[in-house]
Amino acid sequence: MTVYQNLIGGVWQNSESSRRVPNLNPADSDDVVGEVPLSTRAEAEAACAAAAEAFKAWRAVPAPKRGDLVTQAARLMTERTEQIARALTREEGKLLAESYGELGKTIKIIEYAATEGRRLNGATIPLELANNFGYTIRSPLGVCALITPWNFPVALPSWKIAPALVSGNTVVVKPSTLSPETGRLVVECFVDAGLPPGVVNMIYGSGSEVGATLIDHPATRAVSFTGSNEVGNDVYVRAARRGIRAQCEMGGKNPVIVMEDANLDLAVAGTIQGAFGSTGQRCTATSRVVIMDQVADAFLEKLVAAISTWQVGNGLREDVHMGPCIDANQMEKVLGHIASAHADGAELLYGGTRLTDGDLAKGYFVAPTIFDRVQPTMRIAREEVFGPVLAVLRVDSFDQAMTVANDVEYGLTSSIYTGNLNYIFRYVDEIQTGMTHVNSPTLGGEAQMPFGGMKASAVGPREQGSETFDFYTETKAVYIDYTGHKREGRMY
Ligand code: NAD
Repeated sequence: MTVYQNLIGGVWQNSESSRRVPNLNPADSDDVVGEVPLSTRAEAEAACAAAAEAFKAWRAVPAPKRGDLVTQAARLMTERTEQIARALTREEGKLLAESYGELGKTIKIIEYAATEGRRLNGATIPLELANNFGYTIRSPLGVCALITPWNFPVALPSWKIAPALVSGNTVVVKPSTLSPETGRLVVECFVDAGLPPGVVNMIYGSGSEVGATLIDHPATRAVSFTGSNEVGNDVYVRAARRGIRAQCEMGGKNPVIVMEDANLDLAVAGTIQGAFGSTGQRCTATSRVVIMDQVADAFLEKLVAAISTWQVGNGLREDVHMGPCIDANQMEKVLGHIASAHADGAELLYGGTRLTDGDLAKGYFVAPTIFDRVQPTMRIAREEVFGPVLAVLRVDSFDQAMTVANDVEYGLTSSIYTGNLNYIFRYVDEIQTGMTHVNSPTLGGEAQMPFGGMKASAVGPREQGSETFDFYTETKAVYIDYTGHKREGRMY
């Protein structure tokens, strides 16, 4: 039985903790992939200390050279794609094609970050003072704690590790205990690329112990977190108490708006992909359709016809369209949301049950589920389900569609289906999400675009990409006085 090891100061080592949780294949809980240690606080502290020690030398490595090492990690990930994709499907449950997709995107993200090592520019700024030169440089922060969820265990750690390292930071990665194997395979790509010991560390454990310890450690200067709103809000407060940087990418309740003139076939295809692809276990998943009543029946007829062709099963099988929920807890949570939708009076159109036929009984499978006539006040319209459940809300006007779409506490992503230019431009202005799509699903994001909900600090392709690097670096303002004499007058 594989017991996952922590990586501290360049040495893979067993945790001294005897507390462990099994890593189960969610499509077949008889298949125990490994055991994850719940490491101790002392081990988390040791990982931060190792990262702090390694930072002293790593920060002095020129940024283009740091980028070259990160490029090498992308090469190794390319070579190891099949191994990592299979491990991902086995422990997370997504389809093999989806795993390959995640790997492909991740490699682009790493390559993009790596080349930024050659563009970590500062600025030269004209000064009022004669014979003085003003400029800025970007300095690394120090140790960054990188805390990630289970659903994109290749992309999300890489999205954090690569820019953090190129910026000159050292990192401690805390993957989710639900997808530990892929976490290790990802970190191995960086380590095997030739990074000095201690530049990347990884520690397994619970969020409340290990995660919190990483944030509280005196050497930690920034935390990049991706996960649920509940945890993310705590992480933010915890980081603020120490005055360190925090970046929290959290949940979604993402709407698709379908207007009366929409191409319904296109809208159906995009909604199915958005709602049920990856079993709805994506922060960018479509969980609400806000639709003009006059086209709702036609849309839903096509939607149900399309989803009823889907096979649910083990993601390693080629004929399968949708895999399982990640674990028993998540499955129960999804079933709880379905029960609450029933209780609140939503109309079940499709699915709504756990699937237990044959081999499915060994896994955590829930049928793709569609509820019609959902009201904005119902729980199913307001809370993130993070599973294959779609709520349909009928509206009578564009204005009502916008009100309903914006009436949630989440603001990650969204989409509209229409050919009407007025609708499109008004929608883009009024929708309160950080990412939005027109005539395509709520999914998708490219490495060089800002991620949803993050502030867009500047326009233009170069500046957009550098947003990530704004987080992982701090700006130092430098004044060089070449007058050679004492400055007259008061100084402010
Ligand atoms: P989660 O919030 O339960 O856990 C995320 C990570 O935080 C895990 O590594 C966990 O161990 C750790 N953690 C838990 N408690 C902690 C604490 N008190 N202090 C520090 N760390 C702690 O999320 P999850 O169930 O793993 O993932 C699903 C969630 O992630 C969904 O809400 C989804 O929308 C969100 N998500 C968001 C994005 C995005 O980019 N916005 C991407 C993927 C997933």
